[in-house]
Amino acid sequence: MQCVGVLALQGSFAEHLHSLSDIGVKALVVQNKADLERVDRLIIPGGESTTIGKILRDTELFYPLKEKIQNGMPVWGTCAGCILLAKQVQSGVPQLECMNIRVERNAYGSQLDSFSTQEMIPVISNKLLNLIFIRAPKIRSVFGHAQVLCQVRGEIVAVRENSMFVTTFHPELADGGDFHQYFLQI
Ligand code: GLN
Repeated sequence: MQCVGVLALQGSFAEHLHSLSDIGVKALVVQNKADLERVDRLIIPGGESTTIGKILRDTELFYPLKEKIQNGMPVWGTCAGCILLAKQVQSGVPQLECMNIRVERNAYGSQLDSFSTQEMIPVISNKLLNLIFIRAPKIRSVFGHAQVLCQVRGEIVAVRENSMFVTTFHPELADGGDFHQYFLQI
């Protein structure tokens, strides 16, 4: 049985735990190296990427996490999680530098420019999905083996590269566990 972890240092980790529980998956809260050793896949939630990056360093989780991701552990970064995984960050400092994407932080504007929209993403589900963007980054380009899964308003909002998956929006705040189901199949 695979053990799913949710990085729980800051941000919307409780919402991810609820979404997983809604689809019958009991996940492990990851807050230190011992927790990380027990998980086979990990969600990095939205929040504040600089804060999560700082706590990753303070808790000495940073390098063990980077190594696990580079060794192929499936990982899903939502919003700030996407920024943390990017190799290139415009208007910010790269953090884990694992994924071949270039992102720009806060690229839609301020908190007041947050929005939601509905979109069909066949690789995820054949239903219309609710996508919630909160002070989201924009994925400006993808390179290497990174593949665009979805675009909204002309912007790349979901990317997959091998066992890494990122969304610039927050599926854990919307109903239905379609994205969580997708991640569990990686
Ligand atoms: N603006 C945040 C950052 O740059 C991300 C926002 C989010 O995760 N909803 O880290």
